[in-house]
Amino acid sequence: MPLLIIGSIALDSIKTPFGEKKEILGGSAVYASVASSFFSPTALIGPVGKDFPPEHLDFLKARGIDLSALHRMEGPTFRWGGYYEYDMNQAHTLETKLNVLAQFDPKIPEALTASPYVFLANLDPELQLKIISQIKRPKMLAADTMNFWIESKRDVLHEVIKKVDFILMNDAEIRQFMETPNLPLAASRLLKLGCRGVIVKKGEHGALLFTQEEHFSAPSYPQEMLCDPTGAGDSFAGGFMGYLAKTNDLSPENIRKGVIIGSVMASFNVEDFSLDRLKRLKHKEIMQRFEEFRRFSRFEALLEEHAI
Ligand code: AMP
Repeated sequence: MPLLIIGSIALDSIKTPFGEKKEILGGSAVYASVASSFFSPTALIGPVGKDFPPEHLDFLKARGIDLSALHRMEGPTFRWGGYYEYDMNQAHTLETKLNVLAQFDPKIPEALTASPYVFLANLDPELQLKIISQIKRPKMLAADTMNFWIESKRDVLHEVIKKVDFILMNDAEIRQFMETPNLPLAASRLLKLGCRGVIVKKGEHGALLFTQEEHFSAPSYPQEMLCDPTGAGDSFAGGFMGYLAKTNDLSPENIRKGVIIGSVMASFNVEDFSLDRLKRLKHKEIMQRFEEFRRFSRFEALLEEHAI
């Protein structure tokens, strides 16, 4: 099943303890669509400026991503600058230059309005609402956000959450948004707003899934090659949604598998800057790491003679 992803397309400038890179390919929708392209046909909508390097578009096309509805705009491409210290779970924003993102007025072409799977990557929640009003009710609609929008557009974000099936946030964001340090409590408050599922991304500590019926915890991967965490959340979301679109199965068991696929894609993404690791990634490696995740989280029942 096809997946439609709408979000930012960026030139990022990043500093981590392992190096510094200027004006590299990034953006929430770029990470998400490259990750999802390993699983399902993906269409990407986002704004690019006149200065956006054509080789980045060639790379996205080569991954089979449908760019026919890209918004090519006058003015410079969106830029984000940030740095990470040794605690790489926390991104520190140095600059957000919205540029064409400030004028972005998403128009979903008729052919894509009936996409059965839709992911609203990190974007102004007002635009996320605008997109929701243009599409036919998808089988699965998920959204992501970040502290920038929680701080500036909290009420609008509430409206988005009421309209989506799944919301993805990282642990700091959900605590900030629900004003509690307690993650299960924060998730249950979000579920009460009306969404069916909440995914809390915890960086190197794994991910949590909360639905009305259950709670599932994806293990952390013992990552020894951590280089740049930018896009981890977006590649998680792209893997999660891409896998669900591929299998077209929204059973609780398959959603759990989707959470693990998301974790697998994020764990690869952080091994290099920008999309460089996903550029080299092979399907076989995804399968192998999925099995590793399974091994980490498997444990047997207590023996009867050891019962306490
Ligand atoms: P994450 O998966 O949270 O690490 O997302 C990182 C990506 O989000 C970067 O490539 C940025 O270009 C993009 N980004 C940063 N700030 C914003 C924003 N305010 N709106 C949309 N995208 C953003």
